[in-house]
Amino acid sequence: MEFPLDWIQLTVEFKHKPPAGWRWFKSEVIGNRGHYLITGGVPRPRKSGKNKGAPTWRDAKLDDYVITHGDIKDAEADYEKRTGNCAKCFGTAKFCNKDCQTCLATGKRAQV
Ligand SMILES: [Zn+2]
Repeated sequence: MEFPLDWIQLTVEFKHKPPAGWRWFKSEVIGNRGHYLITGGVPRPRKSGKNKGAPTWRDAKLDDYVITHGDIKDAEADYEKRTGNCAKCFGTAKFCNKDCQTCLATGKRAQV
């Protein structure tokens, strides 16, 4: 299943190398020092009902991963190096439906 990239997914993939198709569905702040507990698994599409085709994690094997602010920074830097895209908007030039201020709506990583 395809999901838009976000910072949680990016960081878990970078830090923990989860199985193919793994996707987070729950995040929780733990402690007070910038740690996040991320829960996910490999989803499957619902077979029926009004949300048919939407992902469900029912019966999936779930994994918890902990990521930190430092991990997020590392993952974003790695992403920008690999792709040349802005890690705030993931190259879409939009952030929260507005022009991305980090890359000034170019979608490219900042030139340093
Ligand atoms: Zn951007």
